[in-house]
Amino acid sequence: MKAGVLALQGAFREHAEVLEALGVEPVEVRLPDHLSGVDAVFLPGGESTTIAKLLDSSGVQAALRSRLVDGLPVFGTCAGLILLANEVEDEHGRSYPGALDRLDCTVARNAYGRQRESFEASLAVEGIEGAFPGVFVRAPVVTKVGPAVDVLATHDGHPVLLRRGTTWAATFHPELSGDLRVHERFLAEVSGRGVGTLRRRSLGSPPEASLPAGQSVPGPERPFRAEKEVTG
Ligand code: GLN
Repeated sequence: MKAGVLALQGAFREHAEVLEALGVEPVEVRLPDHLSGVDAVFLPGGESTTIAKLLDSSGVQAALRSRLVDGLPVFGTCAGLILLANEVEDEHGRSYPGALDRLDCTVARNAYGRQRESFEASLAVEGIEGAFPGVFVRAPVVTKVGPAVDVLATHDGHPVLLRRGTTWAATFHPELSGDLRVHERFLAEVSGRGVGTLRRRSLGSPPEASLPAGQSVPGPERPFRAEKEVTG
């Protein structure tokens, strides 16, 4: 299996590392041609306005939009979710469709405010046992989701992991958490392979996940300091 990682700006290398750990070949996507032969595509965190401009100038936007219409599975994290959203609201009260306009939801950029720019919170994710470490970096807040969108995790009452068919999006960064399970679940689901068939090796030591399945885990919450800069 080959998966594209949009590599115009932002935390794309971290997605590629997770994919390698799962035995999936990552393909850095910078030009329309790079999309040929990929079975799924990941849209990383970063600065959504910058990525949107580069998507347009590189020609990847049109090519990617048409692959998505044809059913290419996609997973957007943070800025990646903003690109996929039907409606984006910015801090200046403007609203506009995301550059890829694929997911029926409204998202408010940078909505946690300066006091809580980056933090980590334990999440209960549907289909994943125990706690998943949610790393939020200048995260957006999803304020509305369409009726066909599944909410697979919430934080503070807001959806943080969304799925509509093979379109997935998270306001947090599973690729920065050291935990492969969200990527694994997405890849298993969109490829029709079982969870557990993909994993080859772990990325560092897995975080503690001691809660019983299905239990909701609201905290503890602590500030998160990104080792590598993920601006946005
Ligand atoms: N704040 C960024 C934006 O609105 C997203 C942050 C991220 O991807 N970590 O584009």
